[in-house]
Formats: sequence, structure tokens, C-alpha cells
Amino acid sequence: FDSLPVLPLFDQPAPTPFVAPEPLTKSAKLWLPKRVLFTPDALDEPFGQQIYERVMAHDLEVEVLKSNRLTNLRGADARETYRNAKNTLAVVKAPAGALRLQPTPPSADWQMNLAEGCPAHCQYCYLAGSLQGPPVVRVFANLPQLLENTANYEQPGRLTSFEVSCYTDVLGIEHLTGSLAECIRHYGTREGARLRFVSKYNHVDSLLDLPHQGHTRARVSLNAEPVARRMEGGTASIEARIQALRKLALPVALGGGGYPVGVVLAPIMLVPDWRKHYTNLLDRVADALDFDCDLTVEFITHRFTPGSRDVLREWYPNTSLNFDESIRAAKRNKFGGVKYVYQPDDMRPLKQFFYEEWQRRFPNAPILYWT
Ligand code: SF4
Repeated sequence: FDSLPVLPLFDQPAPTPFVAPEPLTKSAKLWLPKRVLFTPDALDEPFGQQIYERVMAHDLEVEVLKSNRLTNLRGADARETYRNAKNTLAVVKAPAGALRLQPTPPSADWQMNLAEGCPAHCQYCYLAGSLQGPPVVRVFANLPQLLENTANYEQPGRLTSFEVSCYTDVLGIEHLTGSLAECIRHYGTREGARLRFVSKYNHVDSLLDLPHQGHTRARVSLNAEPVARRMEGGTASIEARIQALRKLALPVALGGGGYPVGVVLAPIMLVPDWRKHYTNLLDRVADALDFDCDLTVEFITHRFTPGSRDVLREWYPNTSLNFDESIRAAKRNKFGGVKYVYQPDDMRPLKQFFYEEWQRRFPNAPILYWT
């Protein structure tokens, strides 16, 4: 399939000659929001108090709101609203509706959201179009209650999995919240439940000593260098993420976390020279995981909906991401919603490439799904 035409992913033809990536281990900058809001209900929660202490320890100023509603989050225009929101952390009590969990196939049985909103700036962001209002990071102060509630969803006789990364990057906010550690500790005590998280950040040191009992699968989201460099603002470099994956997977006796780990390759994009860039990525993962570990992979190709495209164009007016529907296949869900994915003729060689290349390097690491 070498003759496969490469889709014009970038509007401006992007010369991306293959350059061996610098061993650039650029850590993500710790996110320090300019504005931190607490609702009165959030401050009444013992876990909310812990978040308050953490925020203060980072020398951030806190505004305690008079009511439990978040207002005045909009700026003069869409750009200012986006900028302000991405610099705002709001600590709130999750509404009662958060106790009704939603299924989240194929990644896990159920979503368990510890926060909504993310400090990073990915130009294809999965959250665009699925969260209401300005993209403020809302963190839930009643996390222990949310965690207790998930026991109602466990099914006897089988393992039930909970995904905490559907609406935020859990590591991107961990230094201010401690929420991920709380989840890992909680599921370490649940025989019938498993926790899954994924991140594009690399600050994993605080997780290494936690009593996870092998019940948490720690995944990193990886991509080809040109995609990560051009489209994933605010996140850790690919090299830093690969090193974080290594630390998480290394046995405890060797100073690692001893976690079951995973790679989430997403969103897979048909960039120019995609085979070379993704081959390089997989080689680097294989080099970093040069020891036996419990590893899985998930493959997610790029897609967008009309709603997410509109929001992303507003958030990133200069984006080079190509949203041309005519070079995509429309996939409809049972509610009539549509998403645009790669056409079957493009999807086939991509899938073949990733399955072959993964299985060749990691014969014992299951591919959980391709979508
Ligand atoms: Fe969106 Fe995930 Fe990027 Fe955060 S890390 S901006 S949630 S795609």
C-alpha cells in the first residue's frame, strides 16, 4: 500500500520530511490557573478542603463564591472566553446527576468523572462539543461520594471497569487536586473493580508508591511527532510521556510503579509520511519497555462531528486541521448523530499497518480495540 495517497490533513501543505526526533524529554509545564474558584458547597466537603490546601500550597489565590453557581465566565468574544476558561479552575460539588453513570464502550464499562474540562490545548480535542459552556476545568469536591457510588455498578462474578479520563486529563490537574491518587487508592481496595486512566502529561512520580494492587491500568496517550508538536499544546513531549510510561510500568523493586500499563494511540492521523513517523514512535516505545510488563494498546483514528468541528474552529481559528467532510466517511449512530471518520480505503491500510507493527514488537500485549 505504498502508493496510498496521503490525505491533505493540513490545509497548508506541510512539508514534514522525516527527521529523527531529538531525544527531547520536555516535561509538561505544571498548570497554574490564573483564577481558582470554590463554591460554598465544595468548601464544605472534606475532600474540597484538601484541594483547597493543595491550591494554597501552590501560592494561588482563591475566590470563594457567594453561591454554588458559576457565573461571569464569558469574555468579550469567543477567543477571550476560551483563554479565560482554560485559565480557570472551579472546585464544585458534582450534581446529583453525576451519580448516574454512563457506559463508555469500548474503553471501559462505565465513566467515573472526577472533573470536567482540561488545561491542555489539543486542536482536535475530544471534549469540544461534548461539554456545555466555556471550557473551565471543574473539579468535583465530593469525589469520595462519587467513588462510593460506583460500587453500585459492580457486577458480581466479573470485573467491572471504570474510566476516569473521559472529560479531563487527570494527570494535568493532579498536582492541584490529588483526585487521581484518591481514585487509585480507592480501587486498590475493590476486588471486583478496575480503574483506567490515560494522560498526555508526564508527572507520574506521586503515583508510583500508591497501593494500587494492580487494579489500575495507567495509560499514556501517544502520537506521531508532527501531530503532537503541532496540535497538542500544553502537554508533555512524546519522549517525556514514553519515559513516564516506563516509570509506571517498571517493577516497584526497580523504583517504578509496577502498574499494568497501556498505550492509547490517538488520534491516528494520515499525516504525510505517516508510516515513518508511527514506526519511529513504536520503536521508541519498544526501546523504553525493554522488560516484561502487563501492556495493552488501544487504536483510535481521527474523527469529528459537525458540532465538535464548529467548536474547534472557534477555539483554534488558525488550526491546520482539515475538516473537509468530502474526504471522510459519515458514520451514523442510532440517535441520528453523525461523525466523520476516514474512508474505508484509507482505514484498511492504516489498520493493517498498526496491527502488524504492534504485534511484531509486542506479541504479548493485547490490542484492545481499533476504532
Ligand atoms: Fe482535549 Fe485530551 Fe487534549 Fe485535554 S488532553 S485538550 S481533553 S484532547
